[in-house]
Amino acid sequence: MLRADNFGNMSKIDIKSMSFEEVIAFTQEKGYPRFRAEQIYSWLHQKQVNGFEEMSNLPKSLIEELSSICYISVANIEKKLVSRYDNTVKYLFSFCDGECVEAVVMDYHHGHSMCISTQVGCKMGCTFCATGMGGFIRNLTPSEILSQIHTAQRDLNLRISSLVLMGMGEPLDNFENVVKFIKLATDEKGLNLGARHITLSTCGVVPKIYELADLHIPINLSLSLHDTKNETRSRTMPISKKYPLEDTLKACKYYSDTTGRRITYEYALIKGVNDSEINALELANLIKGTLCHVNLIPVNPVEGTGYSQSSEKNIRNFQKILERHGVTATVRRTLGSDINASCGQLRGKQIRGN
Ligand code: SAH
Ligand code: SF4
Repeated sequence: MLRADNFGNMSKIDIKSMSFEEVIAFTQEKGYPRFRAEQIYSWLHQKQVNGFEEMSNLPKSLIEELSSICYISVANIEKKLVSRYDNTVKYLFSFCDGECVEAVVMDYHHGHSMCISTQVGCKMGCTFCATGMGGFIRNLTPSEILSQIHTAQRDLNLRISSLVLMGMGEPLDNFENVVKFIKLATDEKGLNLGARHITLSTCGVVPKIYELADLHIPINLSLSLHDTKNETRSRTMPISKKYPLEDTLKACKYYSDTTGRRITYEYALIKGVNDSEINALELANLIKGTLCHVNLIPVNPVEGTGYSQSSEKNIRNFQKILERHGVTATVRRTLGSDINASCGQLRGKQIRGN
């Protein structure tokens, strides 16, 4: 049975992380009929309540029993910033042990998309990343990943229609919880999000890319590439020392062959580091002919990294070279630029007390 690794509820069961089948087994074990499990699951995943006492159609005895042995994980709003330019909303959420993560809600013409976190901090140490600079604290539970969406939906009174796992943390380094989260988020008795509307972004934890592909959940995979050669990539992304680029690209090919989904390669352009015409050509050669798309992102300059953004002209030129070689590429719109919408920076500020 799932036990929380949060201090506040050390010995209590994390009921919101349970699958429907697990809730059925749990309630039956306590001597209650199956329809009670349906009610509990619906309170947690459709009405999204934060307390057992709100489950008004349950007998008092069951509410008391649940309260004494389980807890409902909640993402509390610590900070909320709304962009003046484009309705982008950035949250700093805290969990029951006081740890915080960031999430962003973006208003697109086709609906609302949310970028959520999967870990508090990250072990991967990418040199351009605010989260990576802060080190790793802990994994998020499936319910903590889910609660970020529940809280934002309630706060903004809207429905999130697509998700990107691109906030703080490396989702494939928290594989089991992230997969469990995806199953909960796509459950028709829960948020009922389409797997095709979920994108998981990874720096390239190769064995887990294979494992994910073999689960045959048709979510989109995004690979944070950011360089074209293993030697130089290892300098900004230490994961490349463990899993060489060639193996990473092979894993991506396996993913798109197995799931039929196109891979998105993220490429953050850093002035003088990875943004030359040669880099563009190398990138095109590396991935052309595969089912893919490139997202070019002007790097978000993080304090202390010493990196700066490529010029707009350079970015457009980079894009043209890719397209000339048959690789489709878009330059990512920077949403919420006034609220530091790229992740890791708000939490960093909170910790430093700015
Ligand atoms: N750990 C996963 C997902 C979280 S990071 C991964 O690395 O893919 C989400 C995305 O933000 C990644 O593509 C990452 O490379 C990118 N990123 C991190 N720091 C950035 C910065 N300063 N500027 C632009 N993109 C950044
Ligand atoms: Fe971790 Fe992704 Fe940041 Fe790298 S870019 S340190 S993998 S969150």
